[in-house]
Amino acid sequence: MALELTIHEVTERKPKPDYSHLAFGKNFTDHMFVMDYHAEKGWHDPRIEPYAPLTLDPSALVFHYGQSVFEGLKAYKSNNDILLFRPEKNFQRLNVSNKRLSIPEIDVDFMVHALKELVHIDQDWIPTKKGQSLYIRPFIIATEPVINVKPAEEYKLMIIMSPVGSYYSTSDQMSPVKIYVEDEYVRSVKGGVGFTKTSGNYAASLSAQMKAEELGYDQVLWLDGFEKKYVEEVGSMNIFFKINGEVVTPALNGSILAGITRDSVIELLKHWDVPVSERRISIEEVFEAAENGQLEEVFGTGTAAVISPVGTLKWKDKEITVNENETGKLSLDLANTIAGIQTNEEKDPFGWRVKVDVEK
Ligand SMILES: *Cc1c(COP(=O)(O)O)cnc(C)c1O
Repeated sequence: MALELTIHEVTERKPKPDYSHLAFGKNFTDHMFVMDYHAEKGWHDPRIEPYAPLTLDPSALVFHYGQSVFEGLKAYKSNNDILLFRPEKNFQRLNVSNKRLSIPEIDVDFMVHALKELVHIDQDWIPTKKGQSLYIRPFIIATEPVINVKPAEEYKLMIIMSPVGSYYSTSDQMSPVKIYVEDEYVRSVKGGVGFTKTSGNYAASLSAQMKAEELGYDQVLWLDGFEKKYVEEVGSMNIFFKINGEVVTPALNGSILAGITRDSVIELLKHWDVPVSERRISIEEVFEAAENGQLEEVFGTGTAAVISPVGTLKWKDKEITVNENETGKLSLDLANTIAGIQTNEEKDPFGWRVKVDVEK
């Protein structure tokens, strides 16, 4: 059965927030996308409707056993164009998460189509200053009202959207972050759910994040769950090290998230003929490189910040400063190029940009 999108528009638009002081994820647009799943009907009744609270039975499975997956991407406005960045990758990755969490898979092409319609309807909510965008949050929750441990037979897929400002408060100046290497808690182990975007990964990371903040650091760098020896990722970003001219990032090993920004950075580095390798890298190797003067740059990658330079790394009783706490040249080039591709200011040799033009 082909999915057919219906649209119920609001009768009155909400006032827009002050775009010069946008708090992350606090204001939501006029509309949302909703689609239901029932074991007998499959995914059905996809619709765009006014943004509103949900009513769910207190026994809905998501509240008890955590079948919940999500995605995060952004829409940009550039002159008269509305642009998305590799949106099919997000829905493909949602299916990777779905599979691991026993949630029924979705039709990627249909979801890209539905997302374009949603962004089109709420296009006035896309802020246009440098660094600003419309953050898009697709998610799926298990809604079946039964507190029996089993894959739910009913789900809701929703997309909500929120205008967001530049990740860095000082507009276009990227400021390096201070990272605490966590060696007590672990984020995930191979065979677990670390490669999925599921809510529980975030719930489990909060205490380490709070600990890092109390100690004066911005984010946590996770080590592997077996030996606490190999680097995994940072908070909700993947991590890259430039050591003696070569860029190294942990290989996708089953416990880290396959970031779309990570993939884009690797592609771009290859395109620029910068040596890049995906392999295991121990935290000891990183600290040794720093001591030998070979650790040139460290940066995190993710949709929210695109590139986040790391200025300080603290592991056990050692602390190192990277590139004199300045943003490195490669970090800056990557940030500018990816942001440029996202907003139409740079050539897009990879075909990553997707225009939102809905058929009328
Ligand atoms: C979402 C996420 C990332 C970054 O992925 P992008 O697709 O680049 O935004 C990295 N690590 C974790 C744990 C994440 O949830």
